[in-house]
Amino acid sequence: MQNIIFIAPPAAGKGTQSHMLKEKYDYEHISTGDMLREAISNGSKLGLEVKNIMDKGELVSDDLMIDLIKDKLTKIKGKPFILDGFPRTLKQGIELDKLLDDANYQVIYLKLDKDIAIKRVEGRLTCSCGKTYNIFDQKLQPKQNGICDKCGKQLIKRNDDNVDSFKIRYDNFLTNTDKLLKYYEEKNKLNIINVDKSVDEIFNDISKVVTND
Ligand code: AMP
Repeated sequence: MQNIIFIAPPAAGKGTQSHMLKEKYDYEHISTGDMLREAISNGSKLGLEVKNIMDKGELVSDDLMIDLIKDKLTKIKGKPFILDGFPRTLKQGIELDKLLDDANYQVIYLKLDKDIAIKRVEGRLTCSCGKTYNIFDQKLQPKQNGICDKCGKQLIKRNDDNVDSFKIRYDNFLTNTDKLLKYYEEKNKLNIINVDKSVDEIFNDISKVVTND
């Protein structure tokens, strides 16, 4: 089974797909966004450092993110993993390669147009357990309004899920990702999946990469 690295603009569904993959294949799901949000809600030093940056939709520094990932990869001790939200810059990608066995990962780029992504961001609700919902998509609505199906907690709207912050995040994504995608393409690691289709269809496409079909 391949380790998976997701590269995707905001609201392309990397969180939803990661959860589905985790359930089916028992991956360790490493979401850097979730790790940072947890640090913020715990009021830790890291949380205080990143809160404003995240609320504005900007990127946290490479050095900080690389330290966070190094620490996490050590803790999971070789268990197969999904990286959701890291790397986001070429520097992060190069540093990550120093930590990984090259043969054992694939990169999946979830491709989504800006106007569709904006609509998704507007409808997105998340739970602190990491599960994501979307009120505009029948398949992604919670069974009970505003409540997480999985753990029963109240769903929340992320601070950075507003149109202003979204535009910054999307533009940052395009600027930084171009070089990163080229880097992985040259390494023959890049799989592009168009995500303007149903969650199940996307999952099928991703599963083929996971199992090497
Ligand atoms: P996400 O949940 O992946 O959309 O990430 C939410 C926010 O966390 C981003 O807009 C960034 O501010 C920050 N963040 C998450 N991962 C990274 C990363 N690899 N590099 C820099 N900032 C990150």
